[in-house]
Amino acid sequence: MKRKTAAFAAAALFLLIAAASSAFTARIPGNEPTAAERAAAENPSERFGFTRAQWESTLVELPAFIRNAIHSDEELFFKEMDEILDTERSFFVHIDTQTPVEPIDCRPADLVDLSGYPVETDKPMRLRKAAAEAFAALSQAAADDGIRIFAVSGYRTYDYQKRLYDRMKNDVGKAGLPVSAAPGHSQHQTGLAADFNSLRQDFDETKEGRWLRSHAAEFGWSLSYPEEFETLTGYDYEPWHFRYLTAAACRLQKRFFADVQFYLTRYLHDWYGFYKEFRINE
Ligand SMILES: [Zn+2]
Repeated sequence: MKRKTAAFAAAALFLLIAAASSAFTARIPGNEPTAAERAAAENPSERFGFTRAQWESTLVELPAFIRNAIHSDEELFFKEMDEILDTERSFFVHIDTQTPVEPIDCRPADLVDLSGYPVETDKPMRLRKAAAEAFAALSQAAADDGIRIFAVSGYRTYDYQKRLYDRMKNDVGKAGLPVSAAPGHSQHQTGLAADFNSLRQDFDETKEGRWLRSHAAEFGWSLSYPEEFETLTGYDYEPWHFRYLTAAACRLQKRFFADVQFYLTRYLHDWYGFYKEFRINE
């Protein structure tokens, strides 16, 4: 009986010490972090100086299918993001029906005249220099394939867009959405957007429309208003309206952002500065 009590007391003492020591270690902050805490503090890429926790916080507003795509090949994602940062931020500005350009009547500084380029009419047409060069390369490659791609609209000033909008604001397309952007809300005001060949929805059934759909991204041009994403973009399907984003951004869009420009530019608009700040080989 006596031995039993002693054994019980020893066991009780052991438990007490174990409890006390674990309470003690738990009280010291930073001591023995959990696996999750260790992962959060780790650096997910040698290209950027942020921790995993900081980086994951940039992904929370993305749809799960985009987060999953990014997590499925983080190394490639960081490599492509790194390349994006070689291009200045203004190329990735996000504009939609709720988000205007800033300032609202801004105009790009490096517009070039498109006379001498394949354009529809003799009306003056302009694009930002990089977009104009990428358009020239695209139309040349198309011509080599026996396809004629030409621009029917490029840069638009705030005032021009206002006149267009005032004339068309009551017009709606098939999805019941406006056919003209409000002034300050048109991608054309950035000098990076162009309409090609034909403003008809069955343009995607022509050989020119199909060629664009297959090859535009190789030259850095991204379809802005895809079919089945009308509610997201706020615009009817426009198989003729493309925006110059760089070839690297088009690859990122295709691989990680469900090939939907809206998701990509929204993300870059919000987080370009974050990646730039933490980029290691700046
Ligand atoms: Zn357009």
